[in-house]
Amino acid sequence: MAIQRTFSIIKPDATARNQTGVIAAKLEEAGLRIIASKRIRMSREQAEGFYGVHKERPFFGDLVAFMTSGPVVVQVLEGEDAVAKNREVMGATNPTEAAEGTIRKLFAENIERNSVHGSDAPETAAEEIKFFFTDAELVG
Ligand code: GDP
Repeated sequence: MAIQRTFSIIKPDATARNQTGVIAAKLEEAGLRIIASKRIRMSREQAEGFYGVHKERPFFGDLVAFMTSGPVVVQVLEGEDAVAKNREVMGATNPTEAAEGTIRKLFAENIERNSVHGSDAPETAAEEIKFFFTDAELVG
C-alpha cells in the first residue's frame, strides 16, 4: 500500500476537554505523521460547506452548531494506507459501537460529539485537505 494523505479534525468536544495532545499522540502512535496542523474556529459557512454531503440529514443543523461551538484542530496526516489507518484508530461513528482502544471509544461523548473526523476515501481526503490548507502549509 502506498503512502497516502488524509484529513483529520479534533472536534470541539475534545478541544474543550484539553484532549488535543492525547489524541494527536494516538494518531502518531498508529504511525500517522502530522504534516500540517492548525487550531481554528470554524465559521458557519465553512461548517456548512464541509458537511454539505449531510445537508439533507436531520442532524445537519445540530452538527453545524456543534462544529462551530468551539475551536477545532484541523490536521493532515501522512502514512502507509493513511485513510484506512486513521479510520481504524478513530473507531466507529457511534462510540457505543467503537472498538476498545480507539479514539472514539476512549474520548467521544456521543454519536455527535465524537471527538474526531477522518476522511472516508483518498478522493474525499484530497478535497478536504484543500478546503483548509494550501500546498505550502503541508510539510512532510
Ligand atoms: P464519520 O465519517 O464517522 O464522522 O460519520 P458521518 O460522515 O456519517 O457523520 C459525520 C458526523 O455527523 C459524525 O462524525 C457525527 O459528528 C455526526 N453524526 C453522524 N450521525 C449522527 C446522528 O445520527 N446524530 C447526530 N446528532 N450526529 C450525527
